[in-house]
Amino acid sequence: MSIWAEIQNQIGQALGKEFVIRDRRSVGGGSINQAYQISDEHQQYFVKINQASKVAMFEAEAVGLREMRDSQSIRVPQPLGWGTADGQSYIILEWIPLGQGNSQTWFAMGQQLAAMHRQAHDRGFGWHQNNTIGDTPQRNPWTEDWGEFFAEHRIGYQLQLAQRHGGQFRQGEALLDKIPALLAHHRATSSLVHGDLWSGNAAFTQAGEPIILDPATYYGDREVDIAMTELFGGFPQAFYQGYQEAWPLAEGYQQRKTLYNLYHILNHFNLFGGGYASQAQRMIEQILARV
Ligand code: ADP
Repeated sequence: MSIWAEIQNQIGQALGKEFVIRDRRSVGGGSINQAYQISDEHQQYFVKINQASKVAMFEAEAVGLREMRDSQSIRVPQPLGWGTADGQSYIILEWIPLGQGNSQTWFAMGQQLAAMHRQAHDRGFGWHQNNTIGDTPQRNPWTEDWGEFFAEHRIGYQLQLAQRHGGQFRQGEALLDKIPALLAHHRATSSLVHGDLWSGNAAFTQAGEPIILDPATYYGDREVDIAMTELFGGFPQAFYQGYQEAWPLAEGYQQRKTLYNLYHILNHFNLFGGGYASQAQRMIEQILARV
């Protein structure tokens, strides 16, 4: 069956009545997948397509979106289904017409993200399934100690991948040894996090309702999300005001921020190479200089 026939059937099953695709348009802006808007006379859906081997990535996205949705804190697109057909994989999401943010709606986004971060897991840090960050595998085995989790499954894992890509970072091992100590006094608590919160994954509905997209969900220190919002230029000040009013950040965040963002820079090196190597090296040295 063609992928569009399969998608149309799956939507029909979810709706409990026939759905026939009348219009299909490409949507730009995605970094990894081909994205489309499909519609009949009444409904619109957002569909992402990739090669068949990526179906686990779409499954993890859908399961993550459901978990975030169940936290009843901040809006995320509702997933209708995912699967493979005709050598490709797909995910179907509700279509949400997007609008612009203003200082009030950015403030609300900060508050609602803090509310999502209030959701903890009694198994600590990790998730019940692995997922991806960009196109890179992200491992989430449940771990009681945050420092151990972040050292082994975030920085350590990316350093191993980097080595396979010919990236040799001076003092990488020394950093790994120091991470548990760097995070020991912080007493991070378990929070449901988005995991990939750059500006392309934060948006607003046309009515101004905050919405977050395309997560790399797990339970971690909530500061990982705030750190990432600051990585490529930062979100508007109102966002941080909203967040801090709802749940102030702990002392020492500024120091931990570089460590948390090193994960994404190493991942960018692994995905795109180039200048990210020297940026990661500088960050490693900066972090170690403070120990
Ligand atoms: P990718 O996984 O390929 O990076 P995204 O999930 O980030 O793709 O989506 C790409 C773009 O499509 C987003 O930046 C956003 O502008 C738009 N978009 C994402 N989800 C929806 C949706 N449910 N409804 C409408 N537009 C969306």
